[in-house]
Amino acid sequence: MARESDVVELDAVVVGAGFAGLYMLHRLRGLGLSVRVFEAGSGIGGTWYWNRYPGARCDIESLEYSYQFSEELQQEWQWSERYATQPEILRYLEHVADRFDLRRDIVLSTRVLATRFDEASARWTVETDRGSVSARFCILATGCLSSTNTPRFPGLERFAGATYHTGRWPHEGVDFSGQRVGVIGTGSSAIQSIPLIAEQARRLYVFQRTPNYSIPAHNAPLDPGYVKQVKEDYVGFRQRAAQLPFGANFPLNLQSALQAGPEERASEYEARWRQGGLGFLTTYFDLILDRAANETAAEFVRRKIRGIVRDPAVAEKLAPKQVIGCKRLCVDTDYYASFNRPNVTLVDVSDVPIEEILPGGLRTARERFDLDAIVFATGFDAMTGAALAIDIRGEGGRSLREKWAEGPRTYLGLGTAGFPNLFLITGPGSPSVLSNMVPSIEQHVDWIADCIAWLRAQGHARIAATPAAEDTWVAHVNDVANLTLYPTCNSWYLGANVPGKPRVFMPYLGFPPYVQKCNEVASRGYEGFAVA
Ligand code: FAD
Ligand code: NAP
Repeated sequence: MARESDVVELDAVVVGAGFAGLYMLHRLRGLGLSVRVFEAGSGIGGTWYWNRYPGARCDIESLEYSYQFSEELQQEWQWSERYATQPEILRYLEHVADRFDLRRDIVLSTRVLATRFDEASARWTVETDRGSVSARFCILATGCLSSTNTPRFPGLERFAGATYHTGRWPHEGVDFSGQRVGVIGTGSSAIQSIPLIAEQARRLYVFQRTPNYSIPAHNAPLDPGYVKQVKEDYVGFRQRAAQLPFGANFPLNLQSALQAGPEERASEYEARWRQGGLGFLTTYFDLILDRAANETAAEFVRRKIRGIVRDPAVAEKLAPKQVIGCKRLCVDTDYYASFNRPNVTLVDVSDVPIEEILPGGLRTARERFDLDAIVFATGFDAMTGAALAIDIRGEGGRSLREKWAEGPRTYLGLGTAGFPNLFLITGPGSPSVLSNMVPSIEQHVDWIADCIAWLRAQGHARIAATPAAEDTWVAHVNDVANLTLYPTCNSWYLGANVPGKPRVFMPYLGFPPYVQKCNEVASRGYEGFAVA
């Protein structure tokens, strides 16, 4: 621990060096602030530093899943594929760090353990595992999907083989050749990695609790003509995306699925299936609003699964029953076809859960499986896990963990009452994971930087969301969610994947109205925030 007299005084501390932390640093430096970024990983990149599992790539097209704050950057960077791989996205972020000279203010391999607000000085003391600093502003760029979730199966510590979590994949890679591998989970990470693990492993058992809908990626090298066309008007391309509900260029059909006849519907779904990707969900505007509308799309995908998977019993197990889009839609390359391979077995653990990990494998109540390696594709303590891992103490020493015990409460997902000068990037209550996250991150970073510049210009030392504004916003986030089908299944959007986590819908649906609201709040002198 540093002595009090050694404590470095900064204008701002940023926690995390992913897409959010890197751009936050760039903007704050541009305001002339002294900033330090603390990153637990030994490198920058966040999600794209940690998730090195086979097949990891983005599922929003790279021309959109990238920064737009610098026209030069977006013009000069060449993406090679429609959906870039993890190594390519990491190379991009390394390039950004170098191009904007960010590294000198980033401290790697350093975890923030606690932050404490001092009311007299209106400053945060930020304690890391390598000492403390003091800062006027503390900005959590800790990521929505960075705190991994590994179920506590009895016997796990006795497993004699190797275990991996997709979100903490070894940098040197893993060779599964000749091995009997178990993958637990069938979310996006599993769906991307299973086809590649299946090609390598001697035997692959996929332990599925809930089947997921997946749309083919139809990934391919980018067509230079298309790239040229986008780059000729990149600003316009981005602006058009920002008008759409998810902040991504998924064409939104304003017709109801129920107004279209069965043949027209089938042909629309077929066209979107051929196009590939998450845009399948905007084939009709009401797919996530109306159960009957949703069922038409869900049944289309189930039929596709039955068409791909040769064994009808396996196809039936793979066919999801819940609302499509309720859990995040997946995007794959050859996922369902992997179950036609003779070395791949689907194990349904919905009714017969995994009971115990054994030294040589695992067992359900019904069966025992001999394994050399287990891959946990079991996801994350999403939206709140990374922030709450830090002991954050606001006014009166109140802890954020206590405040959020019944679920996160924020104003706009940007701040939380009782915690002055603390900002969240893509916090709960903002579009975050229900949007193309890079534009959402940039929008938050720009809003926070503008707010800090305004505070300085006005001579204010502190800002905090008011409890009243927060209450109204939390109610609104819930009202919007309750108009949709999102609350109808056990998704990580609701925290339902982590035992004991309060069931609260965390993201906000609707990128364009959200941005408008944030802009209005700012233009009205940060309405709903108290400044002093
Ligand atoms: P992160 O990239 O998660 O970075 C947060 C960083 O904070 C991490 O490096 C972490 O180590 C650090 N950190 C956390 N707590 C501490 C602490 N206490 N002290 C120090 N450091 C700390 N979104 C999309 O929109 N499109 C996609 O295609 C897409 N693909 C994804 C694929 C995968 C495999 C995953 C897991 C997520 C994907 N996402 C996608 C979501 C993705 O997380 C965001 O798009 C984006 O990368 C988040 O950036 P971030 O900087 O906010 O957070
Ligand atoms: P996830 O979607 O939460 O999937 C976790 C899987 O593990 C689920 O199938 C879950 O089953 C299963 N699981 C959890 N606990 C289990 C238990 N005790 N027993 C059996 N199964 C269990 O996690 P993820 O796949 O890592 O993806 C998280 C998010 O990251 C995605 O939704 C997406 O936003 C992002 N991501 C994106 C991409 C991409 O394509 N670009 C790739 C990876 C991740 P249940 O469904 O029954 O809970």
